[in-house]
Amino acid sequence: MPGIDRTIAKRDVVVPAEGGMADGADSIMERALREEAPAAPRGVRTVTARELRFQRRLSVLLTLGPLLGLGLAVALLWGRGISWLDVALMVGFYVFAIAGITVGYHRLFTHRSFEVPSPVRAVLAVAGNMAVEGTAIEWSATHRRHHAYADAYGDPHSPHLVQGSGMRGVARGLWHAHMGWLFRANGTESERWAPDLRKDRVLVAVDRRAPAIILTSFFLPPLLAFAITGSWKAALTGFLWGSLVRILLLHHVTWSINSICHFFGKQPFESRDESRNNWPLSLISFGESWHNNHHAFPTSARHGLLRGQLDPAWRFIRTLELLHAAKRVRLPAAALLVKRRRRPAAAPALAADRA
Ligand SMILES: [Zn+2]
Ligand SMILES: [Zn+2]
Repeated sequence: MPGIDRTIAKRDVVVPAEGGMADGADSIMERALREEAPAAPRGVRTVTARELRFQRRLSVLLTLGPLLGLGLAVALLWGRGISWLDVALMVGFYVFAIAGITVGYHRLFTHRSFEVPSPVRAVLAVAGNMAVEGTAIEWSATHRRHHAYADAYGDPHSPHLVQGSGMRGVARGLWHAHMGWLFRANGTESERWAPDLRKDRVLVAVDRRAPAIILTSFFLPPLLAFAITGSWKAALTGFLWGSLVRILLLHHVTWSINSICHFFGKQPFESRDESRNNWPLSLISFGESWHNNHHAFPTSARHGLLRGQLDPAWRFIRTLELLHAAKRVRLPAAALLVKRRRRPAAAPALAADRA
């Protein structure tokens, strides 16, 4: 299975502080470990114990909350089904927030693969914040760091850098890449990874309102349900499906790109990492699961670069372009696509054109 032999023992070595052990074999081991431990990657600062505690509590709240919501939704609605209003709220808010992540946070802010006027940037930043995955600037800084170190020491969420071998190592790696990394010190310095975004007045203004936007993300669906039906019960089920279950699904789909799409799937293009294309996730991830394509051509606004690859985020960007709302939309040259294919014989299936 891929990845089993790629574990790197040094990554998880904990080096005790100076003088933490008595003299003797232990201290020799300790010194050897310290000498062997790699230097901290650039652009990553030491996180204080207090910050880590806060980050962990927030991660527990934001990951466990939606999960409890799913349990409650199933328990309350067992045998009774789910209303069309619940489905509409869940799908509507899901699409809005995932467009914010894929079109806004990822392709626009992180990779600058196209340009849009400030009001569109603001709407996309608000939509991304509604996914409850952090602010636009933090998210983009962490993601740029992921690309810079992809699957090497310094990557915040690679499934290939965790100690262990065999199935246990694989499971630990996948867990770390999926959500385990959220509970560990991150320390990504946005000053280094996203100085351009820190100067972006629109993003700074939207990110400053992140707490209010997150509250809106949780409470707008039940408010709408109540406004439409006048029923408290509809408000409650609207909250469970439109807020909690929707955010749970959104989180796990986004995290799957970091875990599954660096582990399972095909690699049609040359890239320096373990990124893979995973077709079952393409629709629900809005096209983000063509992850090998993306690592091979990070600034391309289109991720579904081969014929038949579903990429709703690209359709969205292309629509903005046709409406003259998006300009300087970047796509890789057809010749480059051919050159970077692992099997040039399969080249005719390319779709580098905009259609
Ligand atoms: Zn990746
Ligand atoms: Zn990316």
